[in-house]
Amino acid sequence: MAERFRDILVVDLLGGIGDLCMVLPAVHALHRAHPGAALRVLTHAPGADLLRSDRAVTEVRRAERHRERAAVVAELDRCPPDLVVSTTRFDGIAEEIEARGMRSVTDMWRRPPDDEPVARRYVAILAAEGLVEGGYRPPSIHLTAAEQAVADRTLSGVAPSGAPVVLVPGAGMAVKRWPHWPRLASALARSGEPPLVVAGGGSAPGWGGAPVRPLPPTDLRSLAALFAAVGRRGGVVVGPDTGPVRVAAAVGARTVGLFGPTLAARYGLDPPALDLQGLPGCTHRRPTAITEQVCWWQAACPLSTAGPACMADIEPGAVHAALARVVGRGGPPTDAVEVRASG
Ligand code: SF4
Repeated sequence: MAERFRDILVVDLLGGIGDLCMVLPAVHALHRAHPGAALRVLTHAPGADLLRSDRAVTEVRRAERHRERAAVVAELDRCPPDLVVSTTRFDGIAEEIEARGMRSVTDMWRRPPDDEPVARRYVAILAAEGLVEGGYRPPSIHLTAAEQAVADRTLSGVAPSGAPVVLVPGAGMAVKRWPHWPRLASALARSGEPPLVVAGGGSAPGWGGAPVRPLPPTDLRSLAALFAAVGRRGGVVVGPDTGPVRVAAAVGARTVGLFGPTLAARYGLDPPALDLQGLPGCTHRRPTAITEQVCWWQAACPLSTAGPACMADIEPGAVHAALARVVGRGGPPTDAVEVRASG
């Protein structure tokens, strides 16, 4: 690799915790390729907290929502980098970076294939630019030993033994809501222990009497540590294509992902994650332009007046069977389409 850099700025202001998780392989690949460089990441809270103890990241800078361009300008002025990598182009951010004249990569969304996972695509683009070696490593979030010890104790308090199943029912967008949570919770309780449930999330369902064990409300890093503790116990985290599920995978927990409006081949998690895709043949899905899908912003599904048909299509029995297989208890074959990310 001919080019070496001393001060690298990564900009990820797409807005989601999951978006930040997907850029972590690129951040870590840049660190490996330029080990002596200072590497700053400009992103939003609360995802920024996930980088707090990351040894690859020299400094985390936070941007206020709706003031992203101003934050980029301020950071470029405060400490001019010699390389900028940005996932974010809106509001003239890409032009602002390019106008400074330093080496930059500002179009990480160029010509994406439908079936290339976003995180892999980022690394492939940086490799094609000669900025990183080609090898891909999945997203990983560093936790301190103290955080892990606290999480082990917390988990023991709510689930003293066994391999816990954790439900993450909240979905930031209505189009990702799964309507069958109470049925899954009841099936899990009948076959073993009631599942643990992550608190909060504006779209979390009522449980209609289904037996669940709510986890105590907590901050994002503590939730990440709790997911890691679940992973050490051989447990599994299940939820739609959301930031918390990506965080769970990035700290080592097994996951079962419920993919509806997003295509698992493009947005799915890395092995050993098991992703289930609802209505894989929906012609309204736009894997490389999800924000332009007719259903995306208002969950207005042309196929159903009752809500996103693709999410409803993932039957609780299929999820239950997938969970049983992930935690090693066998289980019947699933009806939903199962997609594994390429290894
Ligand atoms: S149109 Fe309906 S079924 Fe198709 S991706 Fe959107 S919500 Fe899912």
